[in-house]
Amino acid sequence: MPASKKKLRIGLVAHDNRKKDLLEWVDWNWKILAGHELICTGTTGKLIEELLKKKLKKDIEKKIRLKKLKSGPLGGDQQLGAMIAEGKIDMLVFLWDPMMPQPHEVDVKALLRITVLYNLPTACNRSSADYMISSALMQTDYKPAVNDFSAYTKRKIEM
Ligand code: PGA
Repeated sequence: MPASKKKLRIGLVAHDNRKKDLLEWVDWNWKILAGHELICTGTTGKLIEELLKKKLKKDIEKKIRLKKLKSGPLGGDQQLGAMIAEGKIDMLVFLWDPMMPQPHEVDVKALLRITVLYNLPTACNRSSADYMISSALMQTDYKPAVNDFSAYTKRKIEM
């Protein structure tokens, strides 16, 4: 596989009880992440931006691209899901909370479903995120294979 300098579009989301985990992970991996584009739900993005600003000593505009969507419970998870469906996200780190029900449970489920549907590399815990960020495939033009849904889209609807 040829080496690629292509920037990846990395989705980052953490529920409140997992934000500390994600921030520690970003802190550990910030030099790698700084070479890519980060797309985050609102509050997660705000915290990551603050952390990276400290790391980059206010040069953030030059060195990192970070987009903040709406906060997850206010539609951010759905925005991210729509971006995945449109092929605008290359991988996702989504640290969801397995111990606490969320007001936007259905959005969380929808986001996870869409990642499976589009075969998107997705890490839901730190060890998986560690494996993903250190994968040699990060440096290549790897494109996840997506199923052919044409039989479904062309299905006959009885009226
Ligand atoms: P937040 O959303 O980053 O705005 O807190 C995360 C989520 O709950 O999906």
